[in-house]
Amino acid sequence: MRKKIVAGNWKMNLSLEEGQSLHKTINSELEGASANCEVYHFTPSIYLTSLINEDQKVQVGAQNGHPEKSGAFTGEISMSQLKAIGTQAVLIGHSERRQLFNESDSFLKEKVDAALSEGLKVFFCCGESLEQRENGDYNTTVVNQLKNALFHLDSTDFQKIVIAYEPIWAIGTGKTASPEQANEMHQNIRKSFAHAYSKEIAEDISILYGGSCKPSNASDLLTQSDIDGGLIGGASLKAEDFLAIISTY
Ligand code: PGA
Repeated sequence: MRKKIVAGNWKMNLSLEEGQSLHKTINSELEGASANCEVYHFTPSIYLTSLINEDQKVQVGAQNGHPEKSGAFTGEISMSQLKAIGTQAVLIGHSERRQLFNESDSFLKEKVDAALSEGLKVFFCCGESLEQRENGDYNTTVVNQLKNALFHLDSTDFQKIVIAYEPIWAIGTGKTASPEQANEMHQNIRKSFAHAYSKEIAEDISILYGGSCKPSNASDLLTQSDIDGGLIGGASLKAEDFLAIISTY
């Protein structure tokens, strides 16, 4: 059975004190509660060491990592360095990294390999632009992103992979994909896994939706048959909103 997951992507937001307080609040609210979903915080890397604690309910991940183990990459942090401080997961392929930092499918593929070899859980993001949605290329675009960065892996690797479908036109815009549009894409993604691997892999992989998901639309989106959770940006920055989304499950 695939897992339900709600993950907050803080991006480059929150002061250290705000981040620590938010993380503490979410952890204490979830403490003792029966866990119906896994919860993650993807935080600025510089906060990771102060937030990581294996005994806590909320797992902590990085928003990026470099594929090389070490070397002359000023300003970068390697997957092995992330692992060394106890980081549990890493986001790879977020559209902001693809667009603002020109990360290509082949570079993302290297990151996926490096993260998996360190035992990090990979949250792999995919999604189409507004133009691709409007000209009808959205299914092919997303399947190609998966094919180019993931479909060289062994089937056992998918135990460590979560997919996050985030239509670019819905990220931070207040516009969401309709529950039907999102579910249709999730089914399409699942089909591509069935085709490339097996029905079992397709059924077992968790596929999250991301893009202006908030308390008011979370239950419509996150309860669709093929949507297994959410990657939440803006609404993860306020404890009340994030907890309301978590309580969908
Ligand atoms: P948003 O961001 O919820 O603010 O749209 C989602 C994301 O980029 O992960």
